Amino acid sequence: MFISQRAKRIAPSPTLAASAKAKQMQAEGIDVVNFGAGEPDFDTPQHIKDAAIKSLLSGFTKYTPTSGTPDLKKAICAKLARDNGLEYEPSNVIVSLGAKHSIYNAVLATVEAGDEVIILSPYWVSYPEIVGLADAKPVYVETDESTGFTASVDQIREAVTPRTRMLILNSPSNPTGGVYDRKQIEQIAELAVEKGFYVLSDEIYEKIIYDGREHVSIASLGPEIRKLTITVNGFSKAYSMTGWRLGYAAAEKEIVAAMDAIQSHSASNMVSFTMPAAVAALEGPQDVVDNMVAEFDRRRRYVVDRLNSIEGISCATPGGAFYVFPNVSGLYGRSFGGKKIDGSAAFEEFALDEAKIALVAGHGFGADKYVRLSYATSMANIEKGLDRLEEAVKKLT
Ligand SMILES: *Cc1c(COP(=O)(O)O)cnc(C)c1O
Repeated sequence: MFISQRAKRIAPSPTLAASAKAKQMQAEGIDVVNFGAGEPDFDTPQHIKDAAIKSLLSGFTKYTPTSGTPDLKKAICAKLARDNGLEYEPSNVIVSLGAKHSIYNAVLATVEAGDEVIILSPYWVSYPEIVGLADAKPVYVETDESTGFTASVDQIREAVTPRTRMLILNSPSNPTGGVYDRKQIEQIAELAVEKGFYVLSDEIYEKIIYDGREHVSIASLGPEIRKLTITVNGFSKAYSMTGWRLGYAAAEKEIVAAMDAIQSHSASNMVSFTMPAAVAALEGPQDVVDNMVAEFDRRRRYVVDRLNSIEGISCATPGGAFYVFPNVSGLYGRSFGGKKIDGSAAFEEFALDEAKIALVAGHGFGADKYVRLSYATSMANIEKGLDRLEEAVKKLT
């Protein structure tokens, strides 16, 4: 069967593969604690669901403009002004099938074959694949827990070449929870303006941030960097709406028009009757978000403490998102059931087989010394899962 080189280059999502295996074990009746989830464990707030139901019943079921309903684009502009200090008009905004789709369209609209895109590692698994689909080349800048998984501007400068077209920034980060502070973002903005590359700022976790940290939207730092920035956000994480598939991007009109053209021939508009629900999410009560973040924070502290108390594991405290990214390389070289743990994939297997907990190996995120655990699961599950991990690690030889 002929399959295109483009498709063959894509690695299947490691995060989805891990959760598929855990779900299969659960279906077989095995009690697996799932730390693999990349989505909040809360239900979508009722007032958001109600708005979709009302819209559907009223017959709002036809095509809309590709870039989204005027009402939703207006609500997004108000949100960007209120939360991010960004003054945009509706023609600067496009609504897409999740933030992932916005990132894909933004890269296709601005990155040429052969261009280089700087990706800060550990990275979200889809960035390199999306860059590859655009026939461009990912260039990685490595970070570790010693800097809270943030890159210095000097490191980024070293990675810049005449072919650099874009830097992808993701703060707070999936998988590390790393957060860039204002100073760092200012320095990155200066470098981008100096060298003239785009910044794709994936701000999907902006609301899930701890210890009074400030989320800084890089586009808000001045007119020059704003021209070069594509800000991406969505509803999945802040409003627990992963299945709704709603995200958006804001950028210069020319960029948004190019994204609109691409989207108009691939997906067209997003599901019409979900868009009034997205308006309700942005304009309705925000305490649902605050309550969720408070609960995540409680779990975050517990998970970090517990992991650090396990011999051979060290876990930095993440500043945002709902993941921890512990370094488990202190356990590499030890064995279970005759099998040696020689990397993060083997650790993932060990955790699932011996501790019956699902977590995600770091190698898919570009960091083989680490694994990712999501604490978007109940406190009872977290306690049970970490008890099991602690016991299983003790049995390693
Ligand atoms: C979840 C996630 C997204 C995608 O969100 P959707 O809106 O559901 O497509 C984008 N970026 C990162 C870093 C994520 O973790």
